[in-house]
Amino acid sequence: MNTKIRERLTSPAPLAGEVDEEKSLRPVQWSDFVGQMRVVDNLKVFLTAARERGEALDHCLFSGPPGLGKTTLAFLIARELGVEIRVTSGPVLERPGDLAGLLTNLQPRDVLFIDEIHRLNNVVEEYLYPAMEDYNLDIMLDKGVAARSIQIKLPKFTLIGATTRAGLLTAPLRARFGVTARLDYYQPDELKLIVQRSGRLLNVQIDGDATSEVAHRSRGTPRIANRLLRRLRDFAQVAGKAQIDLELARHGLERLEIDPNGLDDMDIRILQTILNKFNGGPVGLSTVAVAVGEETDTIEEIYEPFLIQQGFLERTSRGRKTTTRARRLFSESVESATQHSLL
Ligand code: ADP
Repeated sequence: MNTKIRERLTSPAPLAGEVDEEKSLRPVQWSDFVGQMRVVDNLKVFLTAARERGEALDHCLFSGPPGLGKTTLAFLIARELGVEIRVTSGPVLERPGDLAGLLTNLQPRDVLFIDEIHRLNNVVEEYLYPAMEDYNLDIMLDKGVAARSIQIKLPKFTLIGATTRAGLLTAPLRARFGVTARLDYYQPDELKLIVQRSGRLLNVQIDGDATSEVAHRSRGTPRIANRLLRRLRDFAQVAGKAQIDLELARHGLERLEIDPNGLDDMDIRILQTILNKFNGGPVGLSTVAVAVGEETDTIEEIYEPFLIQQGFLERTSRGRKTTTRARRLFSESVESATQHSLL
């Protein structure tokens, strides 16, 4: 299969045309939101307290790799507060006027969700500080000698920021969030629950073993699990099967070239580069980045956490090192390829 297609299937970011389907699978109540117990339990306390006081919830910052539920949490919070949510993203807010337009349209206690908040430009970010802190917006009118600023009082609102790169947020912006939470990759058992629920919503019959197979191959990411389920639904439909069973799941996932460990192309490229070009490491992050043709930030924020969590990679003071598990993974695949070619 074309590498591009495979990369896209395992991409944790939403694909074009996927947005509507994703909305239909998005949990709308806490009982549907699987995992992330510590984050959810704390949020429930803060929500109850804010509701009892009749106040806006403190500003929240959610960080973590794409597809783990940051947007979903923002929608759940707004629903729980019984308020409207306005959605925007860092790169879209080009000028202070874009931000002012959104802020001045908020009702008390409403939620403003800014995705990719680390990509806000400096000017807009400066306008955000007094808005977050004192619910004030300073707007400059006219230019040159006639320039004057007027202050607009904003309703008390909640800003929810989402970021895949918490490290890129400026200290002053980060300091203005009362609640910060980092989302972790999901365990296979949690992903199984997500696949089961999505199967019910999409009207897809999938048995327990097949559910487990999808859960193990989804890179710990609900978005990928849901995507694989939709692709397997296509395989089942075309094969005239009423149910996705293990055989069909394995066949479909193999056709899609989904790695048995849920690794994507870049994960594999990073591990193989360290193993083959740098003798397993330790090797500096920037060297790995150049060798695989990816930005250091992206490797650090998106790829490494999963590889470390899965025990394929280690971060040491002298650089990145592959583990015995990674070495075994590739020697096994070389062995099985040799066996295939001998058959
Ligand atoms: P992010 O904003 O972190 O990129 P999203 O909130 O858009 O991720 O989640 C992507 C999709 O994954 C959602 O549409 C939802 O269907 C599913 N999802 C994410 N987190 C959960 C969860 N905890 N439980 C069930 N489904 C989830």
